[in-house]
Amino acid sequence: MSQFLSPLTSPLLNKLVDGPGGWSGIEADATWAAEIKRLAAERNAVILAHNYQLPEIQDIADYTGDSLGLSRIAAETDADVIIFCGVHFMAESAKILSPEKTVLIPDERAGCSLADSITAEQLKEWKLEHPDALVVSYVNTTAEVKALTDVCCTSSNAVDVVASLPADREILFCPDQFLGAHVKRETGRDNIYIWAGECHVHAGISGPELTRQAEQHPEADLYIHPECGCANSAIYLAGEGLVAADRVHMLSTGQMLDAAEKSTSGSVLVATEIGMLHQLRKAAPAVDFQPVNSRASCSYMKMITPSALLRCLAMGADQVDVPTDTASAARASLERMIAIGQPGGGE
Ligand code: SF4
Repeated sequence: MSQFLSPLTSPLLNKLVDGPGGWSGIEADATWAAEIKRLAAERNAVILAHNYQLPEIQDIADYTGDSLGLSRIAAETDADVIIFCGVHFMAESAKILSPEKTVLIPDERAGCSLADSITAEQLKEWKLEHPDALVVSYVNTTAEVKALTDVCCTSSNAVDVVASLPADREILFCPDQFLGAHVKRETGRDNIYIWAGECHVHAGISGPELTRQAEQHPEADLYIHPECGCANSAIYLAGEGLVAADRVHMLSTGQMLDAAEKSTSGSVLVATEIGMLHQLRKAAPAVDFQPVNSRASCSYMKMITPSALLRCLAMGADQVDVPTDTASAARASLERMIAIGQPGGGE
């Protein structure tokens, strides 16, 4: 049994239930919040929460943000333990950038359909078909895929990363087809091959839905994540003059928060995972933020429940480890991205 348990912790842990959606059974009430804070202090742990997390997880965290921004906080913190409330590849990135620290994820089953859409084996085979190509991978990839990558990118710097590579070298871009299409369009390169991967949540935010919402809210700005299925539609709507071009903003989640804080618009339609609305509404309470698709919820992100977080802090589980060789090759691909310029935040 953990040395960190108090007389309050055990009765709470006795309520834990494991099910298909993750750990449940514990309410996010004042007792829970006090135990989370006490356990985090005793472990000298910092709690990081991604912008797509449940509101109660975002509110108890020491920091909220996007995947890469949180990994950088993890690398700079004095804490001994990093509790990464997000999906598994994000916790891996924190471990890659902070190999000496203990990194825990409240539920290691929290995966990502986009990261799962390309395996290291598939990337190896693709590279064999294009032996001279450079590999550019979005940060939503496993450590093994990053280790086979020349340069990583985020949604905010993907265009700059690809534009910085020699014009005569073929590029293999993975895994997101919508971000890849955005990069191809913006750079005008025709020697870029795009993996047909997608995030099931973002792909579900469709062009017709965006068009309908834009017509119903003619005064609203549009914040679009480039991973969205609707990203091409937004550019089309602007190009056709159906939506004023200055209303359409292609933004990473971190850039959305910056834009919200400076917004002069009364209402904004948001095309990304709906957890983002919690941070946007906190950042700019006077602006009416509405989702383009209110069902765009990532079930993996929502596996980080209040119950899972308490279990994590109390039991020291689930631990995230990346083999040393894989971590150092993956770190090199992240560092090459950082050397190219402003990495932004990605998802
Ligand atoms: S929203 Fe999509 S890309 Fe993001 S963690 Fe969930 S499945 Fe992965």
